Amino acid sequence: MSTPFEFKFPPAAADVARQAASEDRLALESEVVDYLLQVLGSPRFKAEAAPEELQGVKNLDDLVVLVWAIRKLALALSKGDLEYATDARGVVIGGLKALQSNLKHLTWQAKQIAGGDYSHKVDFIGEFSESFNLMTEQLSNRITRLVDISEEYKDKSFKDALTGIYNRSAFMHYAQDVLCNVKEGDASSLIITDIDRFKLFNDVHGHLCGDEVLKAFAARLSGSMRPSDICSRYGGEEFLMLLPGTPLAPALTISERLRSGVEAMEIKFDGKLLKITASFGVAEIFRKPDHMSFETYIADGIRRADANLYKAKEAGRNRVVG
Ligand code: GH3
Ligand code: MG
Ligand code: MG
Repeated sequence: MSTPFEFKFPPAAADVARQAASEDRLALESEVVDYLLQVLGSPRFKAEAAPEELQGVKNLDDLVVLVWAIRKLALALSKGDLEYATDARGVVIGGLKALQSNLKHLTWQAKQIAGGDYSHKVDFIGEFSESFNLMTEQLSNRITRLVDISEEYKDKSFKDALTGIYNRSAFMHYAQDVLCNVKEGDASSLIITDIDRFKLFNDVHGHLCGDEVLKAFAARLSGSMRPSDICSRYGGEEFLMLLPGTPLAPALTISERLRSGVEAMEIKFDGKLLKITASFGVAEIFRKPDHMSFETYIADGIRRADANLYKAKEAGRNRVVG
């Protein structure tokens, strides 16, 4: 049996043209997709303008500009460049810009924290924010604790363990501060005092009794001073006082008052009433010359006060020399 003959009309010219146009369009779309895939996918791709044959595709120019802007901002962020700026807009660019500005703010906050301001909290990256804030809080707590500990040690290292008044280091530390604030031309005074025949006192009454006397002596001296004066245990049974802004004449009067106060003291120990006397050496000091170190300057004042104390001892003790 033979196949019946089927007559086919040749395709109309319009259909041929439609077919060709559809194939062209597919080819063009595929080129657009290829180009955009390269812009977004290949870090080495350089062609910022779309190929010539794509020119004229509707809105393609705007899309290319936006995709390049996204690519550049994303690359800048990945390299840690937080200063990169773009005018482009849109949801993706907007998201990247928000991340960039949050990272910038985080950088600033980290600097503030490094500078000691622990009040900064981060709240834009979920779990990271929690960890960061915990780190800041713990850092702040530890530093507060360290400051407390160092204050505690400073306090201990500046106090004489027996008498509770300042020791020699504290005297040097605070005297330097205080003397810096004395007005130009104003005189200050140093008083050095030493218990008379204290060795003998220890020998007769015992070292424990001697300690009690030292405590009472220190309390009497420090209790008689103004808050701006500095009273310290300089060594064994020697005490050093600074009277800022007090010239020699009133300092001698004050020393005499201290001397007679010590002489009048009755110290109770082991059922006994004990008495002591002390000698005083006074020296006037003026403002530290700029070229001189504080150590040299104060050592000179102490040396002069000590020389006067020696004179007081030589002259029979229980007296003031200045
Ligand atoms: P002077 O009148 O010349 O000052 O005679 P002094 O005996 O006081 O002088 P010296 O410097 O020879 O003796 C000081 C004594 O102070 C010797 C030492 O045993 C005593 N002393 C120093 N520190 C302490 C202390 O912490 N406790 C006691 N109990 N005695 C101390
Ligand atoms: Mg003595
Ligand atoms: Mg002595």
